[in-house]
Amino acid sequence: MPARIAVDLDGVLADTIVPVCRMLNERRAAKLSVESFVQWNAWEIAGITKDEFFRTLDEAWFSWKDIPPIEENLNVKVGRLGEYGTVDIVTGRSPATVPHAKSWLQEYAIPFDSFVRTSDSTKGKARLNYDLYVDDNAELMALVASRLHGSGILYLQPWNRNTTPMPRVYRVERWDEIPAVVERVTTARI
Ligand SMILES: [Mg+2]
Repeated sequence: MPARIAVDLDGVLADTIVPVCRMLNERRAAKLSVESFVQWNAWEIAGITKDEFFRTLDEAWFSWKDIPPIEENLNVKVGRLGEYGTVDIVTGRSPATVPHAKSWLQEYAIPFDSFVRTSDSTKGKARLNYDLYVDDNAELMALVASRLHGSGILYLQPWNRNTTPMPRVYRVERWDEIPAVVERVTTARI
């Protein structure tokens, strides 16, 4: 049976944090870099409210052309997963930014089956019961690991590097490592 695979957008395909750093540095005379964000609650690192952080993220998406891809040739790399099942883009993006996210995916010719927006990037995603989640959200991975079904691929970022190992959650540094893990996970399924 083909697997149902969920691929996250921010922090896994789109390097949204790059323009976010630039905007915060310009506005707040801060000196933030991607490496500054060593915890999931990025707003605490940036010294702003959660609201302002998410507003800035949305703003970054309104200028989607300034958001670089996280790696080169993502279209080829994501395309390899199609061999193992359906590949949906599953994101907690706000409704207002969805058209921009879709334009970005089109610009980089990322192949996918469905674009799925969830109300949040943790419980809302877990509720969809995908067989495999490729995501940078360690809290989502904890939910996946706590269930009997499903696996996760944690795409390593400064904000998730320090999380403890979890059952059925595989850590990768780069997209090139993902197909081998997907192969292992999908052939192990009953
Ligand atoms: Mg993400």
